[in-house]
Amino acid sequence: MVDEARLQDELGPSPRVFLVEYTNKTQTYSENIFQVDVQNLEEIRNVLKAARTLGLRVRAVGGGYNPIALCPDRGQIQLRLHDLKRFDGPRLELHEGFDKFGFRTMTVASGVSQEDMMDFFLNHKLYLPGTSKQSSLQAMDLITTPQHASFPGHKCASAYASQIRFVDSGGRLRVISDENPDAMSFMRCNLGLSGLIYDITFRLRPLIHVEVNDAFDDVESVLLDTNALKSTLAEGMATEIYWFPYNSCHFGKDWEPEDDKVWVKSILPAQSTEELTERQLDFEQTFTFYPDQFSQLTPEVLVGATRRGAMMTSRMLDCRGETTQKVTDAIYSWPEKHPFPSHSFGFSFPLDEDLDIVKDVIKMLCTQLKRFNKQNKYPINLMIQVQFSGGCESFLGPVTGNGGKALHVYLLSILGTEGWDEFTGALAADWMHVTSARPCWDTEWSTVPNMRTFLLKNMKKELTKFKTARKELEIDRHNLFMNNSIQQLLYAES
Ligand SMILES: Cc1cc2nc3c(=O)[nH]c(=O)nc-3n(C[C@H](O)[C@H](O)[C@H](O)COP(=O)(O)OP(=O)(O)OC[C@H]3O[C@@H](n4cnc5c(N)ncnc54)[C@H](O)[C@@H]3O)c2cc1C
Repeated sequence: MVDEARLQDELGPSPRVFLVEYTNKTQTYSENIFQVDVQNLEEIRNVLKAARTLGLRVRAVGGGYNPIALCPDRGQIQLRLHDLKRFDGPRLELHEGFDKFGFRTMTVASGVSQEDMMDFFLNHKLYLPGTSKQSSLQAMDLITTPQHASFPGHKCASAYASQIRFVDSGGRLRVISDENPDAMSFMRCNLGLSGLIYDITFRLRPLIHVEVNDAFDDVESVLLDTNALKSTLAEGMATEIYWFPYNSCHFGKDWEPEDDKVWVKSILPAQSTEELTERQLDFEQTFTFYPDQFSQLTPEVLVGATRRGAMMTSRMLDCRGETTQKVTDAIYSWPEKHPFPSHSFGFSFPLDEDLDIVKDVIKMLCTQLKRFNKQNKYPINLMIQVQFSGGCESFLGPVTGNGGKALHVYLLSILGTEGWDEFTGALAADWMHVTSARPCWDTEWSTVPNMRTFLLKNMKKELTKFKTARKELEIDRHNLFMNNSIQQLLYAES
């Protein structure tokens, strides 16, 4: 067993190593690990060498929302690259001129926060679809799981990466570009198996102004009426739908989930750039209606909280009216301070021309919600997010249909909510009948019953391509970047 002193001995004076009890941001995982902050290539190489010598494994961390399956195992090394400096350029570098496809390009060090990227975009009047404003998220999060906004016409951010530099298990700084499509398809959703990402070059879009329209309508009219949804999606550049469930539920009366109100946020290109509203609504205001003591979360309290949250969100949005914003302000945001220890679960589906998949998926969700409600169980108490995006041109990312579009449905609940496991298990079993469904890799996919069987059966071809590309790149000859979960879920033969 390696202890802190032995590892520090191997590393020499820098970087410093700390044995810490690491808890991920959603508080679903807690384990004793070695944490090391690295600032340059030499320090990365030093850590990798020590890991090879001592038989330890290494996984990087960004914002640390990582689901259990992506966390480092007990006693292994977690590398933080938040302050990493590039040896041959600034942390954020805008390149001169245009690339051969006519785009401005930038290179960003992996640990730069997405908030800093946003400031950079505003300064240069440029934009990378899929980036969020959050300071807790980092540039490489756009790649590893990978991140998307809710623009059906825009792909996930990773699809705009044209070059990635990473450090392999032998400490070599390597470069791949979209001239090698298989290598990039591996990289663009790599679950941390890519070696250590050093920097990423992205193709950017011009910054635009958008109009944001907020509306509250019921689930039936918004999500189950495919004609209405078609026009909503056709009109807007982006449509985000947030559902605080049970908001039409009254105790003692039958509840129809289809009657709940959902917040539909439509983002359209703006005609004018005159009136600029700085910020969008912060979810933190919605969640102020939740009690601090989780033990008090009786069904009555929960339902009351989600109902008041939905009502107040609707009122706050009404006061604000229609707004014109920079696109960087308008896209999705999650409270900077994670409001509660929370579960998350989600799937992506290819979007068909008629949007029947949306209806099917939401109907399955409503049926399960109703079934549980009849047993007086309220398993989903933070929110349900419905989003639409393009693909990410990767082996493991969402499969797309309808001109390259995908539907994403995320469910979020406070940790320890009664019925969560049972509910998500039942819903996943329904959703897994859609063979082209893909787990949202940034959620707790690994704990869903039968996930391994589903993945091995329905993603066999993609997993084989993923593993082959990784092997051919010879990223990890020393088996440093693996963890037990990924080994068992994606790599074990039987
Ligand atoms: C409640 C909630 C709601 C969300 N909603 C959305 C949404 O609407 N749309 C969306 O796109 N995303 C959403 N996300 C995902 C989120 O935006 C992040 O993309 C995701 O959580 C991963 O970011 P992270 O900083 O936490 O990465 P981490 O969890 O820290 O890391 C993710 C993976 O990347 C690896 N990694 C980190 N750094 C490196 C590196 N330098 N080199 C190699 N590997 C590395 C880690 O080992 C890990 O495997 C949501 C997440 C939560 C928790």
